[in-house]
Amino acid sequence: MDELVPTFEAKVYARAARLYGDKLPEVVNNRIREEFGYAAASDADALMLFVRDTFQEAGLGTGNVSIRDNLGASFLAYLLEINGGINPLPPHYRCMRCRHLEFDVPGNIRVGTDLPLKNCPVCGKLLLGEGFDIDPWFFYGICRNKSPKFDFNVPSEKIDALRELREFKITRTGLTDYDDFHRPAMQMTDQLSRLADMTGIRPETIPVGNYPQTAAVIDALEKGGSFVGVYALMGNFVRMMLGRFKLRSFYDLARLIALNRIPRTWLGNGENLMKNGTLEQDELLACQEDAFEYLKTIGFDRRKAFRYVMKIISERKLSAGQRRELRLHGASEWFIYSCDRTPGFASISQSISTAIVAWRLLYYKYCVDKHAFYLSFLETANIAGDTREILEEGENSILDALGIVMKIDLGGYCGWDDEDKFALMVAKEMIEEGVMIPIYAVGRL
Ligand SMILES: [Zn+2]
Repeated sequence: MDELVPTFEAKVYARAARLYGDKLPEVVNNRIREEFGYAAASDADALMLFVRDTFQEAGLGTGNVSIRDNLGASFLAYLLEINGGINPLPPHYRCMRCRHLEFDVPGNIRVGTDLPLKNCPVCGKLLLGEGFDIDPWFFYGICRNKSPKFDFNVPSEKIDALRELREFKITRTGLTDYDDFHRPAMQMTDQLSRLADMTGIRPETIPVGNYPQTAAVIDALEKGGSFVGVYALMGNFVRMMLGRFKLRSFYDLARLIALNRIPRTWLGNGENLMKNGTLEQDELLACQEDAFEYLKTIGFDRRKAFRYVMKIISERKLSAGQRRELRLHGASEWFIYSCDRTPGFASISQSISTAIVAWRLLYYKYCVDKHAFYLSFLETANIAGDTREILEEGENSILDALGIVMKIDLGGYCGWDDEDKFALMVAKEMIEEGVMIPIYAVGRL
């Protein structure tokens, strides 16, 4: 254990220097130092190193891992490349070629992925917009009695390689194993890994945000593009939300996923506040971090705001005392209304992580290769043997066969009242996109 601290710190600083230069800006250095303190107090440093080594051995990186819970709030985890590529610093521009940095960005822009495109003033390369601005407390807590959670979705072909990590995790932190609740997220990482093999394009090379090469994704989102083939977005609930909730940017996608995750944050809550003109979409409470930021705007300090949010989540509603205190501080009635109507809020980390995978899948769909996309979808949907037979037999029942495929593999998950209708919609899209026959042909091989 004595050797751990120097190794851990050296690895963190080495990576920080690679991204941010040898002389780290104050905001970067302060964040690292603050998190070192929390990590040492909670033993998270040992776990992070272990996860990093295990991931490296298994060939897992930022492109094929997604996270559950709040690991996206840890900048150390970002630097060690174990949090699916979520940078929790405030929004900033970073040049990948000459390491030019700009933290002085327009204040009305919440996250780096939404920053306007800009070329590096030093070398001319297009700057990367980074930073989701997440407080490290959402991962480490503030009381030192919270044990930080490490939980990942990885492609199923890698699970055996991670057996050791699972045992380590389970003995150390008593965490849950892979389960049905996370099945859609697991399927998405499987699909991403399959697409990387099929197209030769590695997921981590696909930038999330408004970049020229991913413009078609934004375009598809704005036009209410079809999310067929992307598990996290195929549900009926998302389809209904999109009547009012607009997808104009990557961060909108992450917020949509957060709203979709916890019941009654949108339905009978945020939706009403938008419908009656109280709030704009960007002002909605979509996640824990939104409530935290709001409380700071009414004068709560960081500690008090954080404790308040944790209390709202654990008690699942406001107490009379909390309501009184909020009004005393001049909190808006809509904030009280919104907190009263939901059993909690999602973590933005996890929603961003799911959104990154979803975004990259949409990139393959709209910018790379439609055939590969649909094929990867059907393959990772685990077509059962007897269904495959139907696919192989029928020359006159492609629609039926596909309907069965969809029914078996998506039944129950998507929340469609009429699963046949859903299957037909998928089939229709595949025909319209001209991919039905090639997929069918591959199914026969
Ligand atoms: Zn540059």
